[in-house]
Amino acid sequence: MLIVMTVGATPQQVERVIERVSALGLKAHPIPGAQRVVIGITGNQGAVEPALFENLPGVLEVIPVSHPYKLVSREAKPESSIVMVGGVPVGGDNFAVFAGPCSVETPEQTLTIARHVRASGAQILRGGAFKPRTSPYTFQGLGEPGLAILRDVGHEVQMPIVSEALDEGSLDLVAEYCDMIQIGARNMQNYSLLRTVGRLRKPVLLKRGMGATVDELLMAAEYVLAEGNYQVVLCERGIRTFADHTRNTLDLAAVVAVQRLSHLPIIVDPSHGTGKRHKVVPLARAAVAVGADGLMIEVHHEPSQALSDASQAILPGELSELIQQLPQLLPLTGRHMAQPLRLSA
Ligand code: PEP
Ligand code: MN
Repeated sequence: MLIVMTVGATPQQVERVIERVSALGLKAHPIPGAQRVVIGITGNQGAVEPALFENLPGVLEVIPVSHPYKLVSREAKPESSIVMVGGVPVGGDNFAVFAGPCSVETPEQTLTIARHVRASGAQILRGGAFKPRTSPYTFQGLGEPGLAILRDVGHEVQMPIVSEALDEGSLDLVAEYCDMIQIGARNMQNYSLLRTVGRLRKPVLLKRGMGATVDELLMAAEYVLAEGNYQVVLCERGIRTFADHTRNTLDLAAVVAVQRLSHLPIIVDPSHGTGKRHKVVPLARAAVAVGADGLMIEVHHEPSQALSDASQAILPGELSELIQQLPQLLPLTGRHMAQPLRLSA
């Protein structure tokens, strides 16, 4: 249920509603909007009686929520959310490019790629240190030393960093070293991990599971918001279908579907979405035209030497060329490149 306050509702009136929610043993989530405050209620098993709130001062209306998710919905917050990632805004009109290697391999490899990524105009540096690999015999990531490399390189090139947490153990480390925590496709329905990440106050990049519907993606995000962490960016990264001309089927319609249902930003990862270098840039352009809030792209200066996802890494020059095309595409959906961090001496 959502309780919509009037435009002029006072903080005391909001507080009174919250007290009544708490008195019922439920949890109140005040969501400040541009116009007014909406209070989401979670923790109820069945329907909550609207009459309990309808007559409180400052309450405009009580809306029973038709979806199984509440806090992520546009009903709760009509205007699009902007998530700040280490000083870079993602969402609203701000388009952000997350780019970097699939895996952090060495300090030199990470720095080389990061310098290219920074010079190309991307705003956020990615790099995996805890890798979810299909085979237990392939490179599993450098672990904590990899995070330390990514952090140092992030400082060097002055970019915020994002890396994946695989489980509760790696989550503490990723939260300590990084500006944003990535929850990968394979963990999208790891509800205990989602709850734990929801108790942190760090931005989260939540990737769509390869077999997940849009509703399931939104419910996974709801777990994070329900714990009080509202800083979630969603990511479409392709789903499993019968098609075998690509690694996954990049579902760009999901972007439009999510944006209708939710206020959360959604970016697109055409690297994992296609798995093939030659398909990454065309699908990235399509994602921009569809109205995505950003891109996540894997880059390597020597793709043939990459320790993971070698066949989908694009070259630094290809990333630059793509980003140079963005000013032509972004006006189509009323977006502009998010301001990168300003370089200081
Ligand atoms: C990644 O971004 O490094 C990754 C493993 O992606 P996904 O979870 O989408 O497979
Ligand atoms: Mn990868």
